[in-house]
Amino acid sequence: MSEEKKAWEKRKEQLFLDKKNGYDVVDEGTVGAAADYCEGYKKFLDAAKTEREAVKAAVALAEEQGFVPYVRGMALKAGDKVYRSNRGKSLLLAVIGEASLAEGIQIGAAHIDSPRLDLKPYPLYEDGDFALLKTHYYGGIRKYQWLSIPLELHGVVVRKDGTSVEVRIGAEPGDPVLAIPDLLPHLAAAQSQKPMGTAVDPENLNIFIGSRPYAEAEGSDRIKLAVLDLLNEKYGITEEDFLSAELCAVPAYSAVDVGLDRSLLGAYGQDDRVCSYAALKGLFDAEKRHKTAVCILADKEEIGSDGVTGMQSQAFDTFVADLCDSQGVSLRECFEHSFCLSADVTACYDPNFANVYDKRNSSLINRGVGLCKYTGSRGKSGASDASAEVMGYARRVFERANVLWHVAELGKVDVGGGGTVALFMANRNIDTVDAGVSVLGMHAPFEVTGKLDCYMTYLAMKAVFEE
Ligand code: MN
Ligand code: MN
Repeated sequence: MSEEKKAWEKRKEQLFLDKKNGYDVVDEGTVGAAADYCEGYKKFLDAAKTEREAVKAAVALAEEQGFVPYVRGMALKAGDKVYRSNRGKSLLLAVIGEASLAEGIQIGAAHIDSPRLDLKPYPLYEDGDFALLKTHYYGGIRKYQWLSIPLELHGVVVRKDGTSVEVRIGAEPGDPVLAIPDLLPHLAAAQSQKPMGTAVDPENLNIFIGSRPYAEAEGSDRIKLAVLDLLNEKYGITEEDFLSAELCAVPAYSAVDVGLDRSLLGAYGQDDRVCSYAALKGLFDAEKRHKTAVCILADKEEIGSDGVTGMQSQAFDTFVADLCDSQGVSLRECFEHSFCLSADVTACYDPNFANVYDKRNSSLINRGVGLCKYTGSRGKSGASDASAEVMGYARRVFERANVLWHVAELGKVDVGGGGTVALFMANRNIDTVDAGVSVLGMHAPFEVTGKLDCYMTYLAMKAVFEE
């Protein structure tokens, strides 16, 4: 047999796109670097189970890198690193480049809120000799997934006197956790006949928080009293303080390796802390600094990006306008020449649910960062739909930096869909395209990603910030 390739084989090599598994493309050094990178990412996930905690964790990492709080009007020169926390729930960071802001900025936009169960304003009550907490779900959850799993309670309570206290129940080793036990199969005959979307009534997503009565008390609500007594002892709060609180029930899981080969990573809240961490690390590690690099970690993406800490908020424009003011540049001109990588997760092809994917156009595991020309539903409704030119630009940036990348679409046409912050960036007259990590079980209490894809998304962000 001749080793010589036939003419048609060479021609095929020239013309065909060969979509290889990333492990057949990268070297051992890259595999090791991806594993090391994911150890840091796992720590970030465990520290950041809400957007507030993500801001704190990100600020701690940024300060280690020499970032300082931005003060309006401060003089800035190339290489300066600044950040602004938007009400502790969203974070803006910038590294000033050598070029004028009139040449535009390179933006990485990700979100740090994730689906969860929020407590209602009047959450605590007693029934069946249990103390329970009423919840209102946040974001697109499949309700049955939140039953019979250990839950933690994270958040902040603002007391009557204006002081606030941070709540973190279940996060420390040895802490008790909370739970919503599911219905036993023995009595679920009627419920099992219902469609999955309606089988669990959201008004029944009530969290069990105690069962032991207050010993000396008489009459009703002795268990509720005992729970309030414990909360008061630990946090100095009363029932009325729930009215000015943000308390979120999140899964009580730590981030772990998945698979015997440890090639996958499982955790709560990877949508979109996987891209948030990639954007942060990419900003920290970018070497060339021609244009100014701006990273925004936004809140409220899971409920439409509205509100003062969401991507539709003027907080982003205000921050960039403040930077522009220091150079006498107009925000309009800056935006017009800017580029944004909207870094958010996409759906990973799942052989267990193959019928909802167009395999040819889906994100397969271990293919690196997934570039999405458009998101949205039906006929691309709600998509910003990046132009061929913007796709071409992103492609060149990734190729120059040796980033493993592919193009992905979220599922079959008309099966469903989803959105990101991309359209809110593009609406500002900023060239924008979506890219991110593909996820199995997105929005579930335990989401799974590929380590190589997490690492390649970091390299993609770094490459964007190095332009
Ligand atoms: Mn997302
Ligand atoms: Mn999401």
